[in-house]
Amino acid sequence: MKKIGILTSGGDAPGMNAAVRAVALRALDEGLEVYGINYGYAGLVAGDIFQLTRQVLADKIARGGTFLYSARYPEFAKVEGQLKGIEQLKKFGIDALVVVGGDGSYHGALRLTEHGYNAVGLPGTIDNDIPYTDFTIGFDTALSTAVDAIDKIRDTATSHQRVFVVEVMGRGAGDLALWAGVATGAEAIVVPERDYDIDAIAKKLTEYREAGHDNAVIVIAEGVMSAQDFKAELDKHGDFDSRATTIGHVQRGGSPTARDRVLASKMGNYAVELLLAGKGGLAIGIENNQITHHPMEELFDEKHHADLDLYDMNNKFNQ
Ligand code: ADP
Repeated sequence: MKKIGILTSGGDAPGMNAAVRAVALRALDEGLEVYGINYGYAGLVAGDIFQLTRQVLADKIARGGTFLYSARYPEFAKVEGQLKGIEQLKKFGIDALVVVGGDGSYHGALRLTEHGYNAVGLPGTIDNDIPYTDFTIGFDTALSTAVDAIDKIRDTATSHQRVFVVEVMGRGAGDLALWAGVATGAEAIVVPERDYDIDAIAKKLTEYREAGHDNAVIVIAEGVMSAQDFKAELDKHGDFDSRATTIGHVQRGGSPTARDRVLASKMGNYAVELLLAGKGGLAIGIENNQITHHPMEELFDEKHHADLDLYDMNNKFNQ
């Protein structure tokens, strides 16, 4: 193995740049050449590929987004698309790849491995929805952004004695809502992994108000419903002077937290070790604070499990 490529694919996440940098620096240290592939699999097929040098990488660790850009390219699910990508790998002499992305991106990486080009995957998404990893690259940064926003919303909720329903991202996963809810002392957390009881929530808010606790924050995951829809439901159960806020795409941006940068660096470093050992089709994770890997097929059969102990604990806090 002399040359490796790296691409970022699917939804972007803070810390992807730190991952690319780590892969490249470790590979350069091993005497390999490293190629950045722009726009995910779309750029691979188009041959939008350039050599990564220390100079290119110099200012990247602190930057949000992905300087390699990201794109969705459904054609890569078909063999013809994959073969076009492989033509480009041959043209550039790239022997192996690192893919930073989510579940869909891992499917592409596994196909390349099956075609004889070892590819390993790093979990890059703010949603934390990938199996066999306690945390994904970008989750911690998105969480910090959400917490910062909810703290601010709490200030105005307090001043005006209102109930705020705040929607956070996460696609089908409740992780961002669970962590952000606990971190901001939410009076209720609503996640796709658990049924919610609107009567119970409304009753609790009424009790709080009668006891003199006159503001509340409900954190809802986007995978359940919009903040607007939840507010409309809540309003049918009482006069809470409620407001709905969607934090939105600011959660996807920003300079990565130290934790995301370190996680990305450890995972990127390990990805190169796996490729050097001649391995591919593996997804890297962090489990119990250890960097681990699993065959991608195992991930596709497994579901991500949000930490629902957080949900139960928060409910107890609000009995
Ligand atoms: P994520 O990686 O965040 O789950 P997507 O599901 O959009 O995001 O996948 C990102 C890209 O991975 C797709 O645009 C496509 O290029 C590639 N991809 C997705 N599914 C497959 C598949 N079954 N086989 C090959 N490539 C795929």
